[in-house]
Amino acid sequence: MSKSNNKPRKKVAIIGAGPGGLSAGIALTQAGFDVKIFERHKEIKPLGGAIILNAIGINILRSYGIYADDLATTDTQRFRRYDGHQRVLQQFDKDLLNKANVSGWMAGLMRSDLYKRLLDKIQEEMIVTDHQFISYKEDADGVNILFEDGKSYTADLLVGADGVNSLVRKQLWGESELQHLGIAVWLGWSELEGPDRNEIVLNHSDLHQFGYSPLVYNEKNCFEWWFVEPCTEEQPEPSDPLKYISEKLRNFAYPVPEILMATNSQNLFRWLIKYRDPLSAWSKGRVTILGDAAHPTSPYAAYGAGMALEDGYFLGKYLAGVDLSNLNDLHDGLLKFDNQRVNYTNNVVGFAKTLGKLFHNSPKSLRILRDFLLDYTKFPERQIVKNSVLEAETLLKTVLDLEGKNPPQAMTGVAAYKNGKTINH
Ligand SMILES: Cc1cc2nc3c(=O)[nH]c(=O)nc-3n(C[C@H](O)[C@H](O)[C@H](O)COP(=O)(O)OP(=O)(O)OC[C@H]3O[C@@H](n4cnc5c(N)ncnc54)[C@H](O)[C@@H]3O)c2cc1C
Repeated sequence: MSKSNNKPRKKVAIIGAGPGGLSAGIALTQAGFDVKIFERHKEIKPLGGAIILNAIGINILRSYGIYADDLATTDTQRFRRYDGHQRVLQQFDKDLLNKANVSGWMAGLMRSDLYKRLLDKIQEEMIVTDHQFISYKEDADGVNILFEDGKSYTADLLVGADGVNSLVRKQLWGESELQHLGIAVWLGWSELEGPDRNEIVLNHSDLHQFGYSPLVYNEKNCFEWWFVEPCTEEQPEPSDPLKYISEKLRNFAYPVPEILMATNSQNLFRWLIKYRDPLSAWSKGRVTILGDAAHPTSPYAAYGAGMALEDGYFLGKYLAGVDLSNLNDLHDGLLKFDNQRVNYTNNVVGFAKTLGKLFHNSPKSLRILRDFLLDYTKFPERQIVKNSVLEAETLLKTVLDLEGKNPPQAMTGVAAYKNGKTINH
């Protein structure tokens, strides 16, 4: 690897062209870096169904110059008992939503639609397909990246955005077991008019959940939905998933049967929920990770793609202006990135894991207490607001600050908002 001349160095290699890698690619390009995204597949083909993007993600897309005003946003999230009885009402700060120029906090969209919007903003030559990352070698001067076919590439910074089974994470932070949470999520969608389109609803029975969110797809009004059930890793998929799910949900109130009836069984996709123990840092030397590589996120959080987008955005913001030949400056930028992201994402993933266990994989005695608290007290509502609303609103404010849409404030990570703590490594 050649020593630097006096020119600032700015070569970044990203492994993985998922939402995290594509977002980092756009953000780092906007920050003035020379970026290459290496993807193992021959073509970039988004799998999976619909996802949920919140107001943070929408504002990040806008900051990339991506049109996002057509997304169907909702400003209310409800938890209901299977028979329709309301248990938790989550609403978001209306002033903040106004400042963020969104009519609601969350929006449903197809994973393929998100890819299309991101890819439209990326120069074709930035993405190098058919390159399977194997390993890297790092020294003070750069990172040499090795691919399966024997090719290599040298960069000043390596970003592992290579998903839940990340090899970059494995080399950087060591082996960590992918554990099964004992639940599965089925994802589906249906074209349907009728049910209220201004809310996301999570309906729970003793062990099952059916949640739905409005979605606009191909300019048609649709609903995306998810069904959560206890499930072992070995449990085979039923031969007729829609019949199987409808049977489990036969007592659920309107509009659950209507949404299921309108579903095309070709649109169903089962997902076993896995997790890894959280990391306390993501970046070391000239290497960092983001997205599912850093925080494998179950669809239970409904925030995996959203957090991957945010990671890429903040990486670009914190590295802007850094000469990558200067290891101290690079370290400082990456430390700010970690401080912004690690605690926040660990909290989201941890809370989703807790809720997943509590609703679908806990002993009968705990389920009785859970339902008593949900039906007769405000305790669950307060916990949900504390764990999933307040920090996300703080993060939205940070994005608006960075985009100059708030009165200027010091740029602080969510970690710094919490007990004055930041991460040091
Ligand atoms: C197939 C799939 C379907 C999903 N469907 C849904 C859904 O319907 N609803 C929902 O809420 N969430 C869904 N998710 C979850 C959510 O989309 C993820 O949390 C989000 O995609 C994370 O983005 P990411 O960029 O970090 O990782 P990923 O999206 O996993 O992208 C990682 C990329 O890295 C590439 N890669 C991996 N290893 C290598 C390597 N060694 N060399 C080169 N490239 C490599 C992969 O091919 C992939 O393109 C889905 C995730 C996946 C993987």
